[in-house]
Amino acid sequence: MEFDVGVTRIFPCPVCGVDTPHSIKGRRGHMYGVICTNCRSGSVVSDVDLRVYQLKWEEELQAILDSLMEDPLGIDDD
Ligand SMILES: [Zn+2]
Repeated sequence: MEFDVGVTRIFPCPVCGVDTPHSIKGRRGHMYGVICTNCRSGSVVSDVDLRVYQLKWEEELQAILDSLMEDPLGIDDD
């Protein structure tokens, strides 16, 4: 799996200190140049890091969606 220039991926920004959308600006080998869409600072990340982070993010999102599905009205079952 490769990431295309122009797509946005969630990645922890070292400047913002939080997960922010990063726009992919270029690729050299297995390294990607990305720009934080929040503070506009650039980072260089490996494709592995991007992929792992994307999977982690999707897992967390899925877990949140699952918990909403299981408990749509916020009813405690104790
Ligand atoms: Zn940032």
